[in-house]
Amino acid sequence: MAKHPVLKTFYNSDKWINFRLGLINERGNKCSRCKQTIAKSKDIIGHHKIELTPENVHDNMISLNPELVDLVCFDCHNKEHNRFGYSGQKKVYLVYGPPLSGKSTLVKENMQRGDIVVDMDRLYAAVTLLPEYDKPDNLLSIVRGIHNQMIDNIKTRYGKWNNAWIIGGYADKYKRDRIANDLGAEIIFCDVSKDECLRRLKVDADRQYRQQEWEGYIEKWFESYTV
Ligand SMILES: [Zn+2]
Ligand SMILES: [Zn+2]
Repeated sequence: MAKHPVLKTFYNSDKWINFRLGLINERGNKCSRCKQTIAKSKDIIGHHKIELTPENVHDNMISLNPELVDLVCFDCHNKEHNRFGYSGQKKVYLVYGPPLSGKSTLVKENMQRGDIVVDMDRLYAAVTLLPEYDKPDNLLSIVRGIHNQMIDNIKTRYGKWNNAWIIGGYADKYKRDRIANDLGAEIIFCDVSKDECLRRLKVDADRQYRQQEWEGYIEKWFESYTV
């Protein structure tokens, strides 16, 4: 079960035990996924849709919220967490679109804890400690090396991640389709007009001193975009 002591304490607490029993009384002893009857109530697992962490476990709206807890059987629970023999379930998404189209936001809203995200901007920030809009040219090859290493790992499904999200411009259809094919990735397009990207740039506090530079990136993306 949980590896953090604070989570073990939670799962052993009266409030969780009673909450779980309350759900079983209300919903019955069926697995909400496969609909099978679970003979012994001790085998019914209360699965948190938002994975509990030491930070969120004290928030009752997360840890003790009936909307966020499913009752499932052992097998379905393992599938849910991609445990043991179920690791073949890894999904890969290629999220593309122009600068400021909201790619990271889309990923943040859809990803789960335990997923990996590959994003050149983030990798740059990780090895330079600079803000994400400031990417020194001289480091491009080293950051690209890290990026490619991660792409290779995703391609071979190496490592214990759940799902992978690859974020990038990928304006060129040929290159986009090739990488998606290579990785077995599902393509997600952040479909935002040039005017909207430029409007967002104007009100973006982080990029206020780099307006022209980013206008250039936006223009370039739309020029090279192929459907
Ligand atoms: Zn089940
Ligand atoms: Zn669970």
